[in-house]
Amino acid sequence: MSAASVRSVTPPPAFQPSLRVFSPDPPAVRPTPQQTDDGRLVLTPELSAEIAQASAELETATPQEILRWSIARFAPKFTMATAFGPEGMVILHMLSEFAPETPIFNLDTGYQFPETLALRDEVARRYGMEVELKRATLSVEEYEAQNGGPVYRHSPDRCCHNRKVEVLEKAVLGQHAWASAIRRDQSPDRAKAPIVGWDKKFGLVKVSPLANWTKKQVWTHITEHNVPYNPLHDNGYTSIGCWPCTRAVGVGEDERAGRWSGFAKTECGLHSQ
Ligand code: SF4
Repeated sequence: MSAASVRSVTPPPAFQPSLRVFSPDPPAVRPTPQQTDDGRLVLTPELSAEIAQASAELETATPQEILRWSIARFAPKFTMATAFGPEGMVILHMLSEFAPETPIFNLDTGYQFPETLALRDEVARRYGMEVELKRATLSVEEYEAQNGGPVYRHSPDRCCHNRKVEVLEKAVLGQHAWASAIRRDQSPDRAKAPIVGWDKKFGLVKVSPLANWTKKQVWTHITEHNVPYNPLHDNGYTSIGCWPCTRAVGVGEDERAGRWSGFAKTECGLHSQ
């Protein structure tokens, strides 16, 4: 990429330390992010080094501290995609306390449970935050007609790519960083997630504030703060995606065993590089 094709971005405001001790680089010595003319972040050696340093420093920080750092560094180009899972609801709750203006969106595949979509209204009512629905160009009816029926029945990878990954690619154009709600203890793939990393698939800095949290910590936070959650969780649905690809899990099953049951697939493609 030529130097002429990149331009500097205004440095973010100074970071305000929160309750615990954490001191990222002061803005004066922080490398300035660069982006292409079409709004894509450029992974310069300086940004790469900054990501590695921030990730190491934030390894023992609280989720709130990680989110505050992300906002100080990248807002208003810091965003979050949520499927309204328990982890996403916890992050939404935290953001509502100090950064409710954060742009948040949901990948509305057209196959979500009504209970999932109802949470969008609950978030608006409870927190005054609007979660934008991002959709594929083709409606479910058009998509299925074009493909001779439901694609998820035989090619869930393709369906997820068309209904989620391609939509996310468009949704994050112009953004510099996004928050993910993954936990390291959810799967071997997720166990390697850094707190702050480079998401090469989408060309963004990816922040995982709950990477070090356990399922128990998430549900304790939900209970203590009365955070709204999907009622399907009370009926054995430990991980919830689209209705055709989600089932309740039995006793002793992995928490993600109900996703794409019967297929080797374990991820929708948003969090695999
Ligand atoms: S989870 Fe299932 S229905 Fe939803 S996009 Fe993926 S394959 Fe399609």
